[in-house]
Amino acid sequence: MTSNHELFQRAQAVLPGGVNSPVRAFKSVGGEPFFTARADGPFLWDVEGKRYIDYVGSWGPMIVGHNHPRVREAVERAVRDGLSFGTPCPAEVTMAETIVSLVPSIEMVRMVNSGTEATMSAIRLARGATGRSKIVKFEGCYHGHGDSFLVKAGSGALTFGVPTSPGVPKASADLTLTLPYNDIDAARTLFTEQGNDIACLIIEPVAGNMNCIPPKDGYLQALRDLCTQHGVLLIFDEVMTGFRVALGGAQAHYGIMPDLTCFGKIIGGGMPVGAYGGRRDLMQQIAPSGPIYQAGTLSGNPVAMAAGLAMLELIREEGFYERLAARARLLTDGLVAVAAETGTPFSVNRVGGMFGLFFTSETVESYEQATKADVGAFNRFFHAMLDRGVYLAPSAFEAGFVSSAHDDNAIAQTLDAAREAFRLVAA
Ligand code: PMP
Repeated sequence: MTSNHELFQRAQAVLPGGVNSPVRAFKSVGGEPFFTARADGPFLWDVEGKRYIDYVGSWGPMIVGHNHPRVREAVERAVRDGLSFGTPCPAEVTMAETIVSLVPSIEMVRMVNSGTEATMSAIRLARGATGRSKIVKFEGCYHGHGDSFLVKAGSGALTFGVPTSPGVPKASADLTLTLPYNDIDAARTLFTEQGNDIACLIIEPVAGNMNCIPPKDGYLQALRDLCTQHGVLLIFDEVMTGFRVALGGAQAHYGIMPDLTCFGKIIGGGMPVGAYGGRRDLMQQIAPSGPIYQAGTLSGNPVAMAAGLAMLELIREEGFYERLAARARLLTDGLVAVAAETGTPFSVNRVGGMFGLFFTSETVESYEQATKADVGAFNRFFHAMLDRGVYLAPSAFEAGFVSSAHDDNAIAQTLDAAREAFRLVAA
């Protein structure tokens, strides 16, 4: 039998860090990753046959659980007719119609192949449509690995951004302005100073890449108003929240209309898919109906569209989101209760089926607070849970996800593991 360790040794010789995406390497929690052989429902099995209750769900798309028969069968049917055509196909029209019908602010949409592609394309559109160059993002929000997004705040609110990765040109980072999340005064100050130079403001409406931090009451509306006032396009990056916190995404949950929206993950049902869409007058400026160029050989791929459409059908079933939120609540309420038994400082955030765990007694509302929670305690908890067959996101700064396949049994087993894990963390 191949072991996880053996595979990781082989992987490190031929893949940078042994992985194809950094967080998978367990760098921030320490130790070595496991290699998944198969997945079903709420479970993953590694190559050694160990089973894990999975709260990562392929980083979001597995909202109905792994390997759902309806999604798998849709893919199997599509595959019989060919893998890629390079011409338009019917499923991409149905997909676009479905997204437009479900998401309040979207009148037209363009399919792409990842969340990164969606956000890079959306800011190009924003710049092309407004004739402005600067963009605004938030510290702790992640929008994929495009140059414009790998930027952190400079030393003051109104200074230039600083690249967070070698290879990002300073000239590109200079165009990205960074704000603290959930701080409307900082946004007002920046817009007063530079509003006329800003093409767009991009935000995760529920931040999911600094753990899970929901917007304060009225915050998103205040940003909407500020953008409208200054002619700045508001982009919601709903790669995580789309079709997760509600059927219509965070924009439906909070009742805000962004100008453009980015999607990924869920709309591919596990296949490599992303999309961006929004107001018709903006989307019509995309090639070939307009001059702003964006393209993709595999975009709208028939197999990916089949998986995504099957997924979107499942989550439209009556009561799906109420059930999903109830699953997540059972988990997070249970974790708070078992943490209290051991006197561990611990708090949770939760929006729909998305949650965050913090080793602090405070309610976390900002990036700064998230970074001050006890990361060492999280890392010990992560490993104690992993040893007991529960897989949490391998970083204190990632949101967790439940699926509709996490039944009472899976959650009860998770809480039993957590009771022991909190004791170990406290000891
Ligand atoms: N935006 C957000 C909010 C994300 O969470 C991610 C990925 N986790 C991305 C964009 C990038 O998506 P992808 O990894 O598919 O390129």
